[in-house]
Amino acid sequence: MASVKHVLKFSSIMNYFSGADEIKLISRGENAVESNHIKSFHFVANLGLLKGEIHASMRDRVDNVQVELNEDSIRKSECNCPRGQYLCHHVAALCIYGHYNISVTDTECRWTARKPKEEDVKRYQIYTRRKVTHL
Ligand SMILES: [Zn+2]
Repeated sequence: MASVKHVLKFSSIMNYFSGADEIKLISRGENAVESNHIKSFHFVANLGLLKGEIHASMRDRVDNVQVELNEDSIRKSECNCPRGQYLCHHVAALCIYGHYNISVTDTECRWTARKPKEEDVKRYQIYTRRKVTHL
């Protein structure tokens, strides 16, 4: 059996959250994944884009998270929570979920049929920005 090759390596996540404080965000992100706080997840292979909706703990709210990958590393991330302009545990949760749930095989097969059009991605980005400015 072939070994699973992860699109998003755990070392890339650790690099992105490399400050001491950010390590806490990773464990909070793991908790969010384990508590089923990921409400939706979408990986757009040709854009290297991860998108997801994550339930905000103790609040009746869902945060929109977006992470852009660049080859082996995380290029940038966005979340519409107050900390999301920098780094937050929602971003960590989406990265961790992506690490375990997407593999190179997925980019070639399973996800190909569900690739959204370019304008759908742009619309999502506009939506995300608008949510940020409202805060
Ligand atoms: Zn957030």
